Amino acid sequence: MDRDLHLLIELQALDTRIAGLDREVARLPKEIAAIQASVGEAKAVLETAKGRLDTTRKNIRAKEKDLDVSQAKRSRSEARLYEVKTNKEYSAVLIEIEEIKQEKSRLEEEILALMELGERLAVDIREADAQLKRRESEGQAQEAVVRQKLAAVEAELAGLRAERGELARQVPPPLLAEYEKLLKARAGLALAEALPSQICAGCRMAIRPQALLEIRSGNHLLTCENCGRYLYWRE
Ligand SMILES: [Zn+2]
Repeated sequence: MDRDLHLLIELQALDTRIAGLDREVARLPKEIAAIQASVGEAKAVLETAKGRLDTTRKNIRAKEKDLDVSQAKRSRSEARLYEVKTNKEYSAVLIEIEEIKQEKSRLEEEILALMELGERLAVDIREADAQLKRRESEGQAQEAVVRQKLAAVEAELAGLRAERGELARQVPPPLLAEYEKLLKARAGLALAEALPSQICAGCRMAIRPQALLEIRSGNHLLTCENCGRYLYWRE
């Protein structure tokens, strides 16, 4: 086989592997980001529950203050019962006291409901905290695996690039330039197989019978008339 064609076939094999590994190098950090985002979500769930518990506690304190105010109001009203002069005034104060009593029981119910909510939130927080700890340790293990993989891919890539450099130096520079131009223009494939069905495997267009004969002889470097890729025959 033509020496240049042989070199190009080897070069293409290396470039295809390098492109695959480049995609891995681009993809793996996204995997790490997804792992970290999932830990972040577990953290957000915990923070939300903590925030709700804080709000609930504040609401309880506010209602307790309201209750104190209500109690003071009642004491004043009860004292007034001894000061009023007429039955009419007496009845009015009794109504006032009754309203204050109702307000008190409403506030007590509200406080009770808030305390129950607080208990449920405390349970939620314990669960969210446990979930976060699980997610963190899972995430750490997963991230370590991905980072290891990334380091391995980067090392393999460095080796392949060095190998490619060696090989590329053996290709005549004008041919190498043409090859690299094609590689960019043709989605990473500068070479294509000439198929027995007389078509180019790169673009699926027909190859003239005479050209196919020459390609099969392996003595000439021929390109596809349609896509421009170097054609080769696989024995
Ligand atoms: Zn073609």
